[in-house]
Amino acid sequence: MLFAAEPLAPTIESARRVLKKYYGYDAFRPMQEDIIGNILGGQDTVVLMPTGGGKSICFQVPAVVQEGVCVVVSPLIALMKDQVEALKANGISAAYINSSVGMSEQNNIAADCLNGYLKLLYVSPEKLLSEGFMTFLKRMRISMFAIDEAHCISSWGHDFRPEYTQLRVLREQFPNTPIIALTATADRLTQRDIQQQLRLNNPRVFLSSFDRPNLNLIVRPGQDRVGGILEFLERHQGEAGIVYCLSRKQCETLAQKIQAKGIKAGFYHAGMTPNQRAAVQEAFLKDDLQVIVATIAFGMGIDKSNVRWVIHYNLPKNIEGYYQEIGRAGRDGSPATAVLFYSFGDVMSLRDMLTKENPNLTQLNLTKLERMQQFAEAASCRRKILLNYFGETLATDCGNCDICRNPPTTFDGTKLAQKALSAVVRGRERLSISLLIDVLRGMRNQAVLSQGLDQIKTYGAGRDLPYLDWYSYIHQMLNDGLVYIAYEEGYSLKITDLGREVLQGQRPISMKKFQPAEKAEKTPRGRKAAAPTAKATPATREAQLFDALRTLRKRIADEQGVPPYVIFTDSTLQEMAEERPVNRTAMLAISGVGMKKFETYGEVFIREVLAHGGNPAAQAELDEDDMPSSLGPDDFSAAPPRATRKREPKAAPTTGNDVNSTMETTHQLHRMGLSIEAIAQRRDLAVSTVQSHLTNCYAKGLELRIEEFLKPQELAEIQTAQAQLGGSPMLRDLFDHLREQYDYFKLRLALMYFKKLRGE
Ligand code: ADP
Ligand code: ZN
Repeated sequence: MLFAAEPLAPTIESARRVLKKYYGYDAFRPMQEDIIGNILGGQDTVVLMPTGGGKSICFQVPAVVQEGVCVVVSPLIALMKDQVEALKANGISAAYINSSVGMSEQNNIAADCLNGYLKLLYVSPEKLLSEGFMTFLKRMRISMFAIDEAHCISSWGHDFRPEYTQLRVLREQFPNTPIIALTATADRLTQRDIQQQLRLNNPRVFLSSFDRPNLNLIVRPGQDRVGGILEFLERHQGEAGIVYCLSRKQCETLAQKIQAKGIKAGFYHAGMTPNQRAAVQEAFLKDDLQVIVATIAFGMGIDKSNVRWVIHYNLPKNIEGYYQEIGRAGRDGSPATAVLFYSFGDVMSLRDMLTKENPNLTQLNLTKLERMQQFAEAASCRRKILLNYFGETLATDCGNCDICRNPPTTFDGTKLAQKALSAVVRGRERLSISLLIDVLRGMRNQAVLSQGLDQIKTYGAGRDLPYLDWYSYIHQMLNDGLVYIAYEEGYSLKITDLGREVLQGQRPISMKKFQPAEKAEKTPRGRKAAAPTAKATPATREAQLFDALRTLRKRIADEQGVPPYVIFTDSTLQEMAEERPVNRTAMLAISGVGMKKFETYGEVFIREVLAHGGNPAAQAELDEDDMPSSLGPDDFSAAPPRATRKREPKAAPTTGNDVNSTMETTHQLHRMGLSIEAIAQRRDLAVSTVQSHLTNCYAKGLELRIEEFLKPQELAEIQTAQAQLGGSPMLRDLFDHLREQYDYFKLRLALMYFKKLRGE
């Protein structure tokens, strides 16, 4: 399958040519070049790079320029298959052998290895260690061994696989063949284990930056997560993503709720049969399922590059896990979003779980959980915190996390803190966070009344602030060390010495203003499906073309039985939509279009671009020789240097939603659990305006927490009245019929609710 045999020398120059020719990329990413240089020098190498960092190219490109076959050990069958398909689509000959491959096919593969045709051979560790396989390997010329997901060798790691520890036989059997170990896990212990257990020979270790600047990091309060997710999905139509949940049950119910919105969603957890799991995974890879709701069992080795978002329904146990999971989004380098729902309740249940789970590791695990919690509660750039955890420093704030996009303003919080601290003391340091908030806000619920907390002086002293605001301020006080949580005493809050100083007015304290997450997330690129009625501005034309290219990709992928991203990644399609290439030169200049892909798909994709008007500028220079019908294998050097191409500034984000932004803001606050009165107060609007915002949103299909406005028996009563009046009564008649018991807001909502129930 390799193109016209060209003499390749194992040099960095030929590596660069291979990168352009087979992958369609113009330059190596930082570090890839050094790594490849080292590998070509025949040295053992350890590569530590985050998911999506570009590890595969580090061994695939040297494999192409070197003589012999590169044997890749890979733990997952699905991953192997995908990588081999992707390689073949790029014109590089590769194959895999694992338990799913029959004997005769294996013989063919063996023949290809022996005659030097195959450049990469993927094997599972079980297969590699099985009887006779070493003898088989000994017969061929092996350029190197690449151990993918090498952290599986370490019992410290989270994916320990005992069979990986047997891989040391490679060094014994092939003492002179270089070994390359690759992983996305950077911690010191794992790294040491990899070197020792594989018996690496004075390896060079490449630790790449763990920064993934294209990930927009967002943390949201954990109230109404389902509503938040459904709303997120509205804004991310057609974009593939993963929701991580803690429990199997949660996965199933949430997947159902998403399906009920007409979105193709599936669930995935360890309680399913291997066949069920494989089917769900396959459907996701092929873009037949848009959303997967899964436990953390899902994702290891998922190579799908167009996952556009990852949502954590619950707080993860530690930052390592969190980072690995969000790393599955945006591997193609295009903008992607990571949303974490956070509530203190999650911390409490995780604490309980970790304490019981493994008594020997409790302290370590609790410390890791604390770091995770600090990240979630942070009031400064989140990426800095993450990178800092991995031992990296970022010189400036990232500009692509919720805090950077929506920086909190500070104010003198002394009075606020004193109110809360006073309530802590007067409640005899027995109040949990939520009870403290209830006391401050003057709630009359069972917990407050039964302990006589409505009698203390600070009862109701903070009723002017909504729950979520207090929630934020008390967490800031925790982080600032004014109070701490006595976990062993029912999570009650205790005041510290520092807190006493503040309470007694000896020390001022500044706080960050609580801001709801509304502005935190904006899609940097308008990649949403354009409404058919929208005026064709450049941004919507681009979005339309992007959608058309995506549809074309899906159709071809289904015909060929491969995942769509194997054909082109989202970022390649996005660039095509922006540049609208209509000739060979322009198409080959798109990042991700190599020779083989150009030959296979160039013509149909150019036709699609032409069908959307093409690029007027490029069309003027269209030359007969450039027409798609004459596309054929050609001298590769004809491709122009990419650096000469000018890029247009990126289009402004499109909203593509009928609900305008002031209504959206109201709706968001409602979603976050605020009452109508609280929203009105916060936004300085009339209650009736907020009500009309909410009814409008509801009419447009956004979800409301109806139960907050109408009790089941009220709904039943209104429904009866409606039936008695017959058909669709006027609101006024309904109002009278029910003796003015319900206001128009409630009646309007109820009628819409019934309509929705009937599916109208
Ligand atoms: P990893 O294995 O480290 O998770 P991959 O090897 O899958 O990452 O690479 C992630 C994505 O980045 C892939 O779509 C890959 O094609 C792309 N990529 C890798 N190297 C480059 C490069 N030098 N230029 C452009 N894209 C690249
Ligand atoms: Zn930031």
